[in-house]
Amino acid sequence: MTNKYMYFVANWKMFGDLRTLNSLDKVIKFSKNNKKNKFKIVYCPPNTLIRPLSRRLKKTKIEVGAQNCHHSYDYGAHTGQVNSTMLKNVGAKYVILGHSENRQLGEKDNLINLKIKSSIKTGLKIILCIGETLKERRQNKTNQILKRQIEKGLKSIKNKSKIIIAYEPVWSIGKGVIPKEADLNKAISFIKSRFVKKYPKILYGGSVNANNLSVLKKIPNIDGFLIGGASQNPKKFIDIIKKTIN
Ligand code: PEP
Repeated sequence: MTNKYMYFVANWKMFGDLRTLNSLDKVIKFSKNNKKNKFKIVYCPPNTLIRPLSRRLKKTKIEVGAQNCHHSYDYGAHTGQVNSTMLKNVGAKYVILGHSENRQLGEKDNLINLKIKSSIKTGLKIILCIGETLKERRQNKTNQILKRQIEKGLKSIKNKSKIIIAYEPVWSIGKGVIPKEADLNKAISFIKSRFVKKYPKILYGGSVNANNLSVLKKIPNIDGFLIGGASQNPKKFIDIIKKTIN
């Protein structure tokens, strides 16, 4: 695993304010001290912090992303919404789309597909989250769900070079549990098979921490991690990176 180019994407969710950014100095220092290592750190803070964070990270290799966007490429009368162009304007290079916390609010595959298309047009890289719920898993529907989310999410998108898939079993997010090694291997291999050979990267997300990396590191097809809770603590985040690359 250490020879691969690994992604560490921090999903801050609805946490953080301007003061929180001070805590990133440790991660910036770590990144600067490890310039030769093959990994990419991407911070996805709330929209309110994208601009100040990207300024702070200007002279580093760390990049910034958003956690969602509106599906319209054009500006318009959409109260409370922000589109991919606006996110790019303030410094985002990535956008997380299809996160289960947004799917649970009613976001459907066809809407996610439109968001992906407009974000590609803007020039953002997309981290498309897919994953089954506990109920679906118990009903042995995992592959069926992953297939649907990939096929509908990426419908009529020919150039997938900007797409990163994040496999995030919904039952694992924020719960402190991860899939068994064999199950994770199966799910990741299945996703890989759906993308033929041209897919760029597959990340795993769901309760990643320094203690469960010994299991996660064994999965050969994982290209990095989408990290929620642990990414808000610079020490925990750095520990995850260190344990992965060493
Ligand atoms: C997430 O919400 O994308 C996530 C991976 O969260 P956590 O690491 O807290 O399970």
